[in-house]
Amino acid sequence: MAAATHAGRVAVVTGAGRGIGAAIAAELAARGARVAALEADPALAAAAGAILCDVADRAAVDAACARVEAELGPVDILVNNAGISPKHDGKAAPVQEMDPAEWDRVLAVNLTGAWNLIRRLSPGMVARRRGWIVNQSSIAGKAYTPIVACHYAATKAALIGLTRHLAGELGPHGITVNAVAPGRIATPMVAAAGGATNAAVVAETPLRRLGTPEEVARAVCFLTGPDAAFVTGQTLDVAGGWMMT
Ligand code: NAD
Repeated sequence: MAAATHAGRVAVVTGAGRGIGAAIAAELAARGARVAALEADPALAAAAGAILCDVADRAAVDAACARVEAELGPVDILVNNAGISPKHDGKAAPVQEMDPAEWDRVLAVNLTGAWNLIRRLSPGMVARRRGWIVNQSSIAGKAYTPIVACHYAATKAALIGLTRHLAGELGPHGITVNAVAPGRIATPMVAAAGGATNAAVVAETPLRRLGTPEEVARAVCFLTGPDAAFVTGQTLDVAGGWMMT
């Protein structure tokens, strides 16, 4: 059994109906946190016991956070995990063919979605001088890979900038802000890309395998737990050495 490093902490994890987000919610709960999972897909939300919430919908975010506070108490830990990476027949859209609506949606979910949660939850953290925020970036936000499209890479890079800036702004209030940058992790999002893409990444990855959602979840637990008390503004690669940016 995991040590109760997160006992007494209330956590919100977005996009927690499956994949990495579900693993983060489970790992935080295993370490003693009281966890609220937010999820936009109704079927996944129902199956995971999550609160139905599209992070791009500011009113829905505000309502979900109010419900979490009423049911679990003030939120200490925010994990902005929800993210999308649209593909067409398994391929990322080249910029010259990209539908503007797809660009807008990826920015709204991956970047503005994270800001919507931070906007709603940071005032309480500041008031209590207590908070841990982790943003889900990606190796694709640090280095070029043709596997993803430009909207996805732009949002994941922006999350690193947001992380650094807010670490500076919120640090004096007792809040840490960090990011994780996973490499290729075996989840439904990655399965949709097909075996050849994954094999190519594995060949370029020094540890010669895909990562697991649990391995990303443990990095998030480190960044939100007592062992990382003096760590802020950082982006931790969880990538088996892929890209090594
Ligand atoms: P996934 O598609 O398996 O899971 C994402 C979850 O987020 C799904 O349950 C989905 O319904 C939910 N979601 C999507 N849009 C949402 C919204 N607007 N509001 C709330 N929930 C929403 O993906 P995953 O592989 O588990 O990825 C999770 C995060 O990790 C994403 O931010 C992704 O960009 C990032 N990431 C993944 C990998 C990887 O290899 N899998 C690598 C680097 C970064």
